[in-house]
Amino acid sequence: MLSTWQVTATALNLRVAPQVGSPIVAVMKQGDLCTDTGAPATQAGWLAVAYQGRLGHANAQYLRSVPDAGAMAAGDRPVPTSPPAPAPVPITQPSARQSDLALLHPRFRQAVAGLLASLAQAGAPFRVFESYRTPERQKWLYDQGRTRPGSIVTKAPPWRSMHQYGLAADLVLFIDGQWSWRDSGPLAAHWALLRQHAAAAGLRTLSWEAPHVEWPVSLEDAAGPTLMASGDAAWLDNVEASADRWQQAGHDGAPVLAALQRPGLAPA
Ligand SMILES: [Zn+2]
Repeated sequence: MLSTWQVTATALNLRVAPQVGSPIVAVMKQGDLCTDTGAPATQAGWLAVAYQGRLGHANAQYLRSVPDAGAMAAGDRPVPTSPPAPAPVPITQPSARQSDLALLHPRFRQAVAGLLASLAQAGAPFRVFESYRTPERQKWLYDQGRTRPGSIVTKAPPWRSMHQYGLAADLVLFIDGQWSWRDSGPLAAHWALLRQHAAAAGLRTLSWEAPHVEWPVSLEDAAGPTLMASGDAAWLDNVEASADRWQQAGHDGAPVLAALQRPGLAPA
């Protein structure tokens, strides 16, 4: 599980790099929550966190750890100071696009966090448009332009895209509060930077789908023992649940996940 942190200062800057003076990505308010990105600490006293879909670094002195909600006594729950988030769209609804990093494989998650930070430092305002994608949504997108009206948006049927394994993400420009896929004129340079920085981060890009970055393994290895052994519970539970759900709905194509020796419960 990724740790959750709550802001204790009146305002706390989310910065590109873990140092005072680094460009500010967002200003978090007292009581706001942010999540660990899983990236290792690069600077003592700073944490790499995700806040409202944006990544950056915050001074740990003004963050307090929020215990797991289930383990918390009712009286200990933080009092929300901002309006509650809308109820999440069910994960199986094909139009539901997810953009948080929690369900990505931890190695890939860390690479994406590093990539976003390096792009921000280079002045290219990319954000995660889509991260984990269910097989149900992959089918829905695949059907577009084939059995459903619209233009073709993907070459990959369900389980033939790294998105179903938590090993792909789509990064899109976010300018003046709006997503932009424009790749002509002055914005062309940003997309070139995305390709360069992704390659430097050891990630694969696709010539036919500019926003897409993925972990450079085969689909076979995506469900193989190496990635299984280095995954975390949030990632593994989700891939397993998605494969089960897909099979139980009578569909073909779900991967056979590498057998994993899960550690037993520690004796009390
Ligand atoms: Zn993609």
